[in-house]
Amino acid sequence: MLKGRCLCGKVRYEIDGVLGPVVMCRCSICRRVTGSAFATNASVEAKAFRIVSGEKSIKSFESSKGQFRRFCRKCGSPLYGWSKSFPYVVRVRLGSLPDAGGARPVAHIWHGSKSEWFEITDKLNRYEQEPPTDLLMPGASAKSAKKKRKKK
Ligand SMILES: [Zn+2]
Ligand SMILES: [Zn+2]
Repeated sequence: MLKGRCLCGKVRYEIDGVLGPVVMCRCSICRRVTGSAFATNASVEAKAFRIVSGEKSIKSFESSKGQFRRFCRKCGSPLYGWSKSFPYVVRVRLGSLPDAGGARPVAHIWHGSKSEWFEITDKLNRYEQEPPTDLLMPGASAKSAKKKRKKK
């Protein structure tokens, strides 16, 4: 089990199992919201993620239509993201996890929007914009295929 928290310690969460692919997002929204060169996120199944304390201290900001960024209202720490389009997944901010269970980044996304002031020197995959859905939401295409099948 992985345990994360915000800076002030009001909000604590736990994750069962391991993190999905770790991705560094260089889009302008992530830069602004982190105050840094990129956000580092990993997908976790919503049912494997639970807030264990401080739920009332979580604020939510809709940064794009249907996309919510959740953070501690007391200390401002970014905690996770959630999207209406993929309700069964949360996007955990890796900085809130002291131990990420050995997970390592696999790619840079929105590389086309990167800051001028930070040069990428690693050999990870780079996506100019949004990467394939499975990189952000593992199993998403399988799930939507299943949904389509059910409708018939
Ligand atoms: Zn806090
Ligand atoms: Zn981003």
